[in-house]
Amino acid sequence: MEIRKVETDFANSYIISDTDPEGRKVAVVIDPALELEELLGLDVVLCLATHGHADHINNAKKICDHFEIPLTLHEKEAIYVKDDSYNLSRYVLHRPLDKPENLKLLSGGDELSFLGHTIKVYHTPGHTQGSVMYLLDDRYLFSGDTLFKGTIGRTDLPGSSPEAMDATLTKLGEIAGDFEVFPGHGENTTFSRVQSQLEYLRGLL
Ligand SMILES: [Zn+2]
Ligand SMILES: [Zn+2]
Repeated sequence: MEIRKVETDFANSYIISDTDPEGRKVAVVIDPALELEELLGLDVVLCLATHGHADHINNAKKICDHFEIPLTLHEKEAIYVKDDSYNLSRYVLHRPLDKPENLKLLSGGDELSFLGHTIKVYHTPGHTQGSVMYLLDDRYLFSGDTLFKGTIGRTDLPGSSPEAMDATLTKLGEIAGDFEVFPGHGENTTFSRVQSQLEYLRGLL
């Protein structure tokens, strides 16, 4: 299995890929901010979004239409995809968001799988109502705009909630295990480092 980080002008996208028994390269995309061209030659079977802000899903429609798959994200993020005042496309893209019609909606606690790998869904509201983190194979955590290296996502946007983020930080303190953290913007960190900083992070709210 390979994890490739693609730093776009908007957000980090991640391509998780592995080879199936027939030699096909199967892939999962997390946050489709990247160009479709980056994915050609891969069989993309899942297109996941950590949340519905336009900087993370600006190419979702193009990618999902090409691979004939839905955009998968938390059920509370459907409104962000559909409503430009929530997804902030005017500020981020300076145009309306190209909206994927086909959404697959998740709840916290769901588990996805591909080629024998598991992806657990943690509902971590605060930055948005339906922000999630995806934990791949109990080792790699894709944290979207909930956690960054040394800081957390904004909670002053439409649909944001500092109280929900505070509860999310409490919940993160209760998750056992250490993971490499792949955030929606900036450099990676580790989950043990995040857990050691929880009080500091709470103070940012
Ligand atoms: Zn965001
Ligand atoms: Zn973002």
